[in-house]
Amino acid sequence: MDRMSAGAVAKDNAPAQFEIKLAKASIKVRTEGTLPVSTEVLKKYVNDAVAAVLKYYGQFPLRETVITVRTKEHGGIGYGHTNYDDENNCGVIYLGLGPETTEAKLDKSWMLTHEMMHLAFPNSSQDWLAEGIATYIEPIGRLRIGKLTQEEFWRDMVDNCPKGQEGVHKGLNEADSIHRIYWGGAIYCLKADIDIRQQTKNRYGLEDALRAVANQGGNIGSDWTGDQALSIGDKALKIHVLENLYDRLAVKDETVDLKAIWQDLGVKEDGSTITFDDTAPLAAVRKAIEGH
Ligand SMILES: [Zn+2]
Repeated sequence: MDRMSAGAVAKDNAPAQFEIKLAKASIKVRTEGTLPVSTEVLKKYVNDAVAAVLKYYGQFPLRETVITVRTKEHGGIGYGHTNYDDENNCGVIYLGLGPETTEAKLDKSWMLTHEMMHLAFPNSSQDWLAEGIATYIEPIGRLRIGKLTQEEFWRDMVDNCPKGQEGVHKGLNEADSIHRIYWGGAIYCLKADIDIRQQTKNRYGLEDALRAVANQGGNIGSDWTGDQALSIGDKALKIHVLENLYDRLAVKDETVDLKAIWQDLGVKEDGSTITFDDTAPLAAVRKAIEGH
């Protein structure tokens, strides 16, 4: 029996197209196959991801983006994929949703926000940089729109960042494991965020450097190299943090002392819970990262 004749196909799950229109951007969504959730639920998921990107970047990074959501045979929310379509001049995102996808799972899902964050930075030769940025700023965007709590955000950072330095003796430019690419890259971003805020007395953060890159055309549609983008970010803020850290963590193989970072930020692991020390030396930096 084919799926369509099973009689379980609700009308609102039928293939659909919709568009989210912003002042300077259009995000078109089309679905293929019968989705496990209604179009309304999918719309909410897309809108939340857009809101997280807007919160972090101030504006949507591309004028045109097309998101294709496909039905998967098995599982839940699949890994997404983001690229740029040179012929049609638009960003493209593909996402697969399997039968185990539910409204509750989508509400907690980071996947589409992560993919959308990719639109704002060159898809450069350095995977660790593009993935590290998306990995680091996705939860910040979702924290700032209230989809993650402060505890959840720092819990994930404390648990996952160490994976980015497991057995590391090579710089990030030679990263060849998933953990090193995603979490090694995220460590670079965390350290950059802290250093920028310290050097500018908390006036600017990593987001200001990334906004400058995106505003000057360094997005997924550009062919900029990673170091080109980083130097634009530094110049915009009149600092040398991004290039300096690139040299130390990507070209050379410096290890970041994560325990010292959590201590300075006032992020304390207390058994299974995370608590915060507002008297820590960089407590104000931690709050600025969270968006306070
Ligand atoms: Zn990614």
